Amino acid sequence: MSALLRPKPFLEPQYCKGCLRCIEACPRHCITPGTALNSATGLVPVELHLENCNGCSLCLQACPEPYGLRLETDRPGPEGDFVLEDPAKLFGEKCVPNHSEGDLPDDRIALPACEPMVLKGTYAAAIGALLAGCRHVFGYPITPSTEGAELMARILPKLNGSFVQAVSEVAAVNMMYGAGGAGLPCMTFTSSPGFSLMLEGISYMIGAEVPGVFVNIMRGGPGLGNIAPEQADIKLACRGLGHGNTRAIVLAPSTPQEMLDLTAEAFALSFRYRNPVVILGDGYLGQMTGTVRLPAAMVRPGLPAWAVWGDRA
Ligand code: SF4
Ligand code: SF4
Repeated sequence: MSALLRPKPFLEPQYCKGCLRCIEACPRHCITPGTALNSATGLVPVELHLENCNGCSLCLQACPEPYGLRLETDRPGPEGDFVLEDPAKLFGEKCVPNHSEGDLPDDRIALPACEPMVLKGTYAAAIGALLAGCRHVFGYPITPSTEGAELMARILPKLNGSFVQAVSEVAAVNMMYGAGGAGLPCMTFTSSPGFSLMLEGISYMIGAEVPGVFVNIMRGGPGLGNIAPEQADIKLACRGLGHGNTRAIVLAPSTPQEMLDLTAEAFALSFRYRNPVVILGDGYLGQMTGTVRLPAAMVRPGLPAWAVWGDRA
């Protein structure tokens, strides 16, 4: 596409935190520091002067905010970013389970042989979860676990699954509580301070015997500022966890291959014991790449008879 045809960026001032990274990235000096406070955020967004802009998109790539800078071609229409779909159209007819038939068992589907892959730990965990039949992921981004959630956000819509970026870790764990209660394999990616915020929800899930998989890519704590790799949640996960005498199953992989294998195994354990399972990987393992072989089969999950399906129509 010629530079003349490339779309130019526009700024959503309410999402700009004034970090100035886009200014450093722009080769045409089209962006300058802002001069006016945004009353909605209390921050000073940058200003765009696009006369010399060639649409190279380097500013978008530099921006850490998903909605700070966007392309003109993605500018929302008058109805806004999202049009609320009719849930009946989205999800189809409401299912009415026949509990008298008991559990609907999992299917195992053979996978064709393929060459080993080189994957980082977070990606390997995501692929392990997908092969275990997980199609519902809820999370809130936190370094160094975010890439796992990011991969799920890209893949799940293509697999008829759901990825929801919640407003917080507290919201994410309660979404897992709901999905797990409906008998659906679900998971989150988080890191130590985020895991702490999930503890009350995990306690509820344990108390209610609801399955769910928590991939905790550990970093130093407490929360603000420290993103260095750590293994400091072992005591928390194994000897304390939530309140109410709660215990979770804890698995600790040491290679990207184990990230895949143990995350897949975590779903089986979580449903067998109806209890959350925690994968504890440190920040190095989350980012470390290694050779990973896929298993010989993947799982198409069934549905346990205890699954809650809402009101009868
Ligand atoms: S698209 Fe390229 S030239 Fe235009 S403002 Fe962004 S970085 Fe600068
Ligand atoms: S990089 Fe994004 S958040 Fe930072 S100043 Fe530019 S537009 Fe704002």
